[in-house]
Amino acid sequence: MRQFVSLIFIVLLSSGVAAADNDISAMLALADEVKTKKPAQFVEMLDEVSQRLDEMNTEELNWYKYLDGFRLGFSGKPDAALANYDEVIAATENVNLLARAISAKVNIYAITRDIANGYTEIQNLMAIIDDVDADARLNIYVILSIFYNQIGDYESALSSADYVINNPQIERTACFAKTTRNEALINLGIADSVTSFDEAIVYCESAQELIPTAFNVLHKSSYLITTGAEQDALRLLETRKPLFEKTQYPISMSAYHAQLAELLIHQSELEEAKKHAEIALSFTTSTGLTKPKIQATQVLSAYYEQQGDLQEALAYARKSAEIEKAYLDDIKVNQLAIQKAKNEMLEKESQIKLLDKENDLLKIQAALNREQQDYNQLAIIGLMLIVTTGLIWIIYSRKMTHQLRKLAHFDGLTKIPNRRHFTQLGEAAISYHQKTSQPISFIIFDLDLFKRVNDDYGHAVGDWALKAAARTALSIGRKQDIVGRLGGEEFALILPGCDKSKAIKVANDCREAIARIDTSETGHKFDITASFGVTDSHQSGYKFDQLYANADAALYISKDNGRNCAYTFDRAPVMTDSEIFSKAGAV
Ligand code: GH3
Ligand code: MG
Ligand code: MG
Repeated sequence: MRQFVSLIFIVLLSSGVAAADNDISAMLALADEVKTKKPAQFVEMLDEVSQRLDEMNTEELNWYKYLDGFRLGFSGKPDAALANYDEVIAATENVNLLARAISAKVNIYAITRDIANGYTEIQNLMAIIDDVDADARLNIYVILSIFYNQIGDYESALSSADYVINNPQIERTACFAKTTRNEALINLGIADSVTSFDEAIVYCESAQELIPTAFNVLHKSSYLITTGAEQDALRLLETRKPLFEKTQYPISMSAYHAQLAELLIHQSELEEAKKHAEIALSFTTSTGLTKPKIQATQVLSAYYEQQGDLQEALAYARKSAEIEKAYLDDIKVNQLAIQKAKNEMLEKESQIKLLDKENDLLKIQAALNREQQDYNQLAIIGLMLIVTTGLIWIIYSRKMTHQLRKLAHFDGLTKIPNRRHFTQLGEAAISYHQKTSQPISFIIFDLDLFKRVNDDYGHAVGDWALKAAARTALSIGRKQDIVGRLGGEEFALILPGCDKSKAIKVANDCREAIARIDTSETGHKFDITASFGVTDSHQSGYKFDQLYANADAALYISKDNGRNCAYTFDRAPVMTDSEIFSKAGAV
């Protein structure tokens, strides 16, 4: 379990209320200013100002209640602090003070691990974030960073802290942002040198912010421990003892002594370790913090084990396990709250990035339920496999069906309908035209002396010519015309809605176009021509077979009459406009 000590119960920013123009406001402002710098002085000042409650105006009273809430939270009375903040929230008309009171609530919920309420208050903060001044806005992001660290969402904590650091901010805000950033870094395991800790220590110290300075010392010590430099960590904590004593802040005190105890027991300084573990425990009662408690009880268990007092050792080990278990149970409960709250946030399209990352809480739960999850994962993988296989099969069989249909309906070489499919399409069209009493025409053409093409240039060139002829027929026909390959070098067209005279024109256009096919692509120069036979429903009726037979008969007339020409079933030669023109001219 990795959870380093958290910066909590800190509410930032000095005055949220207009500049002090009387001594009460001045006193409140001063108390506000020193509340994290000089905690003892802060309490004194607050006591003093509390003698003059009846002299205060409404906003001064709100301000006082807010500061009093801070004092209550600081001394380990979160419920009383929350009550104060709620009063301020209900009464104040100052949006900056409102933001600070809500931020303070988030802070309290961070320590009491009331995640659902924490998120609710974050939403309330987001609703007013555009109305507050720049400092208050950055303050909100610091609070977010604290909250996210506390619930283990370190990625979000880091990005909130970075947001603050990348904006112009007052010294105190910068110090807090650097601190929460370090906390996120250490928990994410991505701190790579002592620099950021040292820098924050120097910065916060010069800003006279003792509590964040103390936290940065603890973060640096944690970092040193992770790098194996336990001696350095020990030296750091020992030399910084005065700092921690000055803060008198229970949370940093318990963390300080617990960490010191752990380091000392590793150095076999048994009595010193025991002493610090006990001090740590004396502070944890008022903070409810689990991490130092677990650390301290483990140290005491180890101490008694070394002393040969196995009964005491076991008692502390059990205690430590119980705390840890309660902590993990707590996480399990909170996890649902987090998920629910996060979903609600997402629905409201909050600007804060929340759902991106798994947080540590989820990871701990994952560890708890590892076996169960492994099983679930296996089941999910199995299910996915079945679904995937099923999908692939469906896609494959659809493809197969499609492919088979294509094979059954279309000619492999020219990709136009084969005889069977052409017949089906033609019969449907003919019957429709019969019902609606519209004309329909049938054209057949056959390539002339095609055997020679194969003989002279080879089968591949013959194939090329067949494809070219099919393409030409397609290009001549309209969209609704049906073009098919009846077999070999024989093709047909059905022209819905066309009578013989129109069909004759189409046949001749097609014939001329075929004659124009440029064969140079094959590497050979030769002529392709075709003979045509034409009939229509007026001549041959609305039976496919009859239309076919009559068109075929007309085709033979063309063959008999020298090829590369078109005849209708009534033996009338079909001429193109240019041929009619030239014949007329010849006469
Ligand atoms: P006609 O002008 O009287 O129709 O003479 P023709 O040579 O075209 O007629 P015939 O029926 O004697 O020959 C048809 C030739 O078409 C024979 C065959 O080799 C060729 N043929 C049929 N199908 C294909 C094919 O798919 N590819 C190729 N390359 N040739 C084919
Ligand atoms: Mg032929
Ligand atoms: Mg033929």
